[in-house]
Amino acid sequence: MKINILTIFPEMFAPLRMSMLGRAIDNGIIELNVTDIRDYTIDRHNRVDDTPYGGGAGMVMQVQPILDAFEGSGFGGEVIYMSPRGEMLSGALAKELSEKTEMTILCGHYEGVDQRALDRLGVREVSIGDYVLTGGELPAMVLIDTVARFIDGVLAGDESVNDESIYSGLLEYPHYSKPREYDGDEVPEILLSGNHGEIDLWRWEQALALTKERRPDLFKAYLESEPELSKKQKRILQKYL
Ligand code: SAM
Repeated sequence: MKINILTIFPEMFAPLRMSMLGRAIDNGIIELNVTDIRDYTIDRHNRVDDTPYGGGAGMVMQVQPILDAFEGSGFGGEVIYMSPRGEMLSGALAKELSEKTEMTILCGHYEGVDQRALDRLGVREVSIGDYVLTGGELPAMVLIDTVARFIDGVLAGDESVNDESIYSGLLEYPHYSKPREYDGDEVPEILLSGNHGEIDLWRWEQALALTKERRPDLFKAYLESEPELSKKQKRILQKYL
């Protein structure tokens, strides 16, 4: 997948070249292109923002450098503008975007972007939550990270995004690793039993209990999805109804 970014802070995207995403870029699964909008301004002082028409606080990112940066970089695909007034990022949206071959993400700053740039690019506005950040770079990285997890080859061979919290319909069960005992705290006995059927059942019950406690909305949706359950699971479920 080709992921293009329009930003005035290209150096902020360094973290994407690390860890699993870095490997996906090195392996050619993801092509990451970052363009500095400022390289395209025709302003002799290199400015990319100006005061808003109609008055009011702050500055607005101007239309010319953005449109010229988009065209000059040869970017295309679905164009996303990270914005607190956009549709909320979700697993479903991330999965939908992961099926595209190309997307371009515009990162705003200051008060935002001249509406004419958004209209001409036909952007889809996406928010990462009901709060306001200083710029669109962190939201863009959140979006890219979660989209990438749905792309074949990004996760390790034995990992499936569908087994994770939320996507499985439940929050994930607790994890334990070595040592077996830490300062008096023991790993739950069942995990040392080698009985994989019972371990799976224990994990499922933990997930169920956690979801009911923390996310009653998800718990309700899980029940309404009428999941296929074994006799043992059905007996356990009774405790949580
Ligand atoms: N004046 C804008 C408003 O009230 O909607 C907020 C501008 S914000 C300070 C600057 C930039 O940060 C935005 O243009 C957007 O790109 C990004 N941004 C801030 N909060 C965001 C959020 N929750 N989701 C996605 N992008 C966000």
